[in-house]
Amino acid sequence: MTIVGSLSAKVPDVILLGAPGAGKGTQAQLLQREYGFAAISTGDLLRDHRARGTTLGQEAESFMQRGELVPDDVIIRMVESELPDKPVLFDGFPRTVAQAQALDALFEARRRPLSIAAYLKLDRARLEERLLGRWTNPRSGRVYHATFDPPKRPGIDDVDGGPLIQREDDRPETIARRLDVFEGQTLPLVAYYEAGNRLILIDAAQSVDAVSKALVAGLGLHQRAR
Ligand code: ADP
Ligand code: AMP
Repeated sequence: MTIVGSLSAKVPDVILLGAPGAGKGTQAQLLQREYGFAAISTGDLLRDHRARGTTLGQEAESFMQRGELVPDDVIIRMVESELPDKPVLFDGFPRTVAQAQALDALFEARRRPLSIAAYLKLDRARLEERLLGRWTNPRSGRVYHATFDPPKRPGIDDVDGGPLIQREDDRPETIARRLDVFEGQTLPLVAYYEAGNRLILIDAAQSVDAVSKALVAGLGLHQRAR
């Protein structure tokens, strides 16, 4: 069997595609741990820039507060500067066709195979339910759900014992806007990756465990596991 630490040549780069609340971050944490991916969450990177008060963070702030997308050029530059040599799991990127094309161009320039996209599909009512109940550890990005995956003590992270927060954009008005933005600007990516024959469809309404198993099987990762 292959050894997990030396998989870089065999594990593909993976895009977790899905609406806010579909479970991308949850699955990214699991896959990252099991298969040694480097995870790039553009949402987490942007929140970190905002917390540090960088120029990029200031540029992004008003878009994020309104639930709109941050302009493509800002996002593409940020991802380019973060792209490591090992296999990457993208969470929340790309979100527009222009971002997807930029990522493909970046991989082509580096002679790296184009990434596979896994679409975590979930209906709007369930997305809203998940976002409304989400509690986040702002330090690690780890998420809980008030009903589906509650922490042992309400408002406290099981791992680091620090406070959990409800994200400012997980409010009903902003949730509605973010889901509209997903449907208008990000959903076309499903056809983009389908046309390139590199889309895997996952039913995200299943349990965390079942989604994870479907991803591992769909991406062919099980053969590479320890
Ligand atoms: P995304 O990164 O796609 O926005 P998250 O991974 O943050 O989504 O998940 C959104 C919310 O739904 C979180 O509160 C998380 O605990 C919960 N969640 C994630 N996956 C599932 C699942 N399969 N079943 C039920 N709740 C889930
Ligand atoms: P997320 O944590 O993925 O839900 O992202 C939170 C917010 O960050 C989004 O609502 C956008 O404002 C912004 N954002 C994150 N990723 C992107 C991206 N790839 N393109 C544009 N905006 C993004």
